[in-house]
Amino acid sequence: MAEKKKFQAIKGTRDLLPPETELWNRVEHTAREVFGTFGFGEIRPPIFEKTRLFERAVGSETDIVSKEMFNWVDDPDLSGAITKIRTEIRDTKTLPAVDGTAARAMLEKQARMGAFNNLAERVRVALRPEATASVCRAYIEHEMHALPQPVKLWYTGPMFRRERPQKGRYRQFYQIGAEVLEMVPSFAAKDAASAGGAKSAPKDAAVDAEVIEMVMAFFARLGLEGVKLEINSIGDRECRPKYVELLRAELLKVKDKLGPDSQRRIETNPLRVLDSKLESEQGIIAGLPKIADHLCANCAAQYAEVKRQLGMRGVAYAENWRLVRGLDYYMRTTFEITAQGLGSQNAVCGGGRYDGLVELLGGPPTKGIGFAIGEDRLILSLQEAGKGGAALGRDVFVAWMGEKAQATAIAAAQKLRAAGFRVELPPVEQKFGKALGQADKLGARYALILGDDEIVTGQWTVKTLASGEQRTVAAEDIVAFLRGEIEQQK
Ligand code: AMP
Repeated sequence: MAEKKKFQAIKGTRDLLPPETELWNRVEHTAREVFGTFGFGEIRPPIFEKTRLFERAVGSETDIVSKEMFNWVDDPDLSGAITKIRTEIRDTKTLPAVDGTAARAMLEKQARMGAFNNLAERVRVALRPEATASVCRAYIEHEMHALPQPVKLWYTGPMFRRERPQKGRYRQFYQIGAEVLEMVPSFAAKDAASAGGAKSAPKDAAVDAEVIEMVMAFFARLGLEGVKLEINSIGDRECRPKYVELLRAELLKVKDKLGPDSQRRIETNPLRVLDSKLESEQGIIAGLPKIADHLCANCAAQYAEVKRQLGMRGVAYAENWRLVRGLDYYMRTTFEITAQGLGSQNAVCGGGRYDGLVELLGGPPTKGIGFAIGEDRLILSLQEAGKGGAALGRDVFVAWMGEKAQATAIAAAQKLRAAGFRVELPPVEQKFGKALGQADKLGARYALILGDDEIVTGQWTVKTLASGEQRTVAAEDIVAFLRGEIEQQK
């Protein structure tokens, strides 16, 4: 007999179930409300895009793009042709002796495969690992620079990264994010990164601070606990490369004392060494040069102004010079927010400024600042703090007995549902004792009891399940009565 296999959700993915989904909805609803008060509109980009978009925007050297993307060649013919030629090349290689003709044939095949691969790159698509690239693409595609600037957008939805799953780290996870994009006509000149110069520093800083203020207001509204905001400036294209070189030179001096990951990063991305959590490296890192001491005048002015602006808004923060963020496109203001109850994966939000990213993707010179909140972690933290919310209860359980009672029960359920009550209507009649037992299990607050007497008299029986108290209510008054009851208990 064929073995029966149970299907399971793929590793790193999970089902979100009721009642937990109530909390997810509450969180997203609150985001919509709070972000709306700051003038943000919702954008819903697709969940897959050209792989090249992410390579360009996020950076092909980042882990997210180089190792963690789910991507495929979105052309079955091409993908089939590549597999076929790959097999042919492998078979040729295993021939005992490769004579001149065979070698030539193989070279030809390799050339063909190269050509196919080039084609494939153009039709390769990926599940989005983040949404900022998509938002920027959409800004360009829909010519949003022609709208009143800045354009303020927020989004929520799943992201995909092939990471090693653990608590708070999934392969399909959810983010709530927002971006502020503003075309700056005058900075087509030279370098978008230093565009605007010192003059635009106060304005940019106020925008940064308001974005951070908005995330903090959202977390406060949700009652998230142990929230800590850390900020840093990572400079721009003028001062950061110089700092990175200085850092590299200093790291080379202590290379032998570093672990293999950090040793590798000295070459690939020295800033990431600052991220290291390795106990043995902490002492060394503490002695490294700090970027704050190496910011150019514009960046330093903007950073000082961001701090002043946060102060004016009553937003508490700590500076963390080691905060560098994993994505290539950030510059100047970067921030991260942690919350309690999450163990080592305690970052619930990361964000920063990315002037010039839109331009890099083929759009006009544009400033940008945004953040992404890890919704899974946000939910975990709320649950850990006992703010998970109760099971999906019912307001009213309609207990009915008798054929005539069913029609009345259906009509009552319709009326109550239309008035917004959560109503459970058993599909078949049940003895009242059993019905009340089920009502209890479902956490219903009231049972509406409809038997022969009630149908005849039009006087319905309402039982408060918590106290056992029973009252008679005229059929036509039922909605008003229950509304009053529930209102009173609030
Ligand atoms: P990032 O897009 O990497 O800046 O991440 C922003 C936020 O998304 C982080 O602070 C996390 O809260 C969340 N996040 C990132 N990767 C994952 C993941 N694999 N699983 C769950 N949450 C994640």
